[in-house]
Amino acid sequence: MVAGGVGDGYGGYRAQLVETLQRKGVRDLAVLRAVGTVPRHLFVPESVRHRAYDDAALPIGSGQTISQPWVQARYLEAVGLTGRERVLEVGTGSGYQTALLALLVDSVFSVERIAGLAQAAKRALDAAGARNVTVLVGDGTLGWRPFAPYDAIFVAAASPHVPAPLVEQLAEGGRMVIPIGDRAAQTLMLVVRRGSDVHTTTIGDVRFVPLLGEFGFR
Ligand code: SAM
Repeated sequence: MVAGGVGDGYGGYRAQLVETLQRKGVRDLAVLRAVGTVPRHLFVPESVRHRAYDDAALPIGSGQTISQPWVQARYLEAVGLTGRERVLEVGTGSGYQTALLALLVDSVFSVERIAGLAQAAKRALDAAGARNVTVLVGDGTLGWRPFAPYDAIFVAAASPHVPAPLVEQLAEGGRMVIPIGDRAAQTLMLVVRRGSDVHTTTIGDVRFVPLLGEFGFR
């Protein structure tokens, strides 16, 4: 669970961000409550802290970004979480979306390929009080077999196709959201596994940094 930022002086900014997301069409109350709870300012560098509650992507170092909250809310809404899921997240980045997930599911396993970002994310997640989260360093296109199968997989970087190991590690009926396309532009896809079949639906257009790895961009 995430302790939340009650009384940290940022509550008004979080409430404004929640209103912005509602205005843009986010309806899932659990997702909105999570955005209203997680102290996003702990997940961004000091240099951009004054913009922590803008509905904007921000730089987090190593050429990477914390995604726009509206995009993250769409991700979370798309999967329709019940609170009981074991989740794999590919691309921890700042750890902010990991913290949102920590409030919305049973357990989160989050893989980041850049060790420095993974360490900073762990520190921020600890400071935010997230306890049901494990951050791992590695190539997330391979998934993380020791903890599979996963009820949901969130891929936070753009891939040319759905990595086969991630489909294999989805539980029966499991859902995955992943941006598919080239390096310039992608479509956010919802992938559902039913037996040996995979059903794919389109959510909308997005723009993400590339998923670099054995089953992503080389
Ligand atoms: N959701 C994150 C947040 O809240 O800060 C932002 C994720 S950022 C858009 C994408 C992340 O995916 C980057 O940190 C990048 O290093 C990571 N990434 C790219 N390829 C990866 C791979 N094969 N395995 C794990 N992480 C990867």
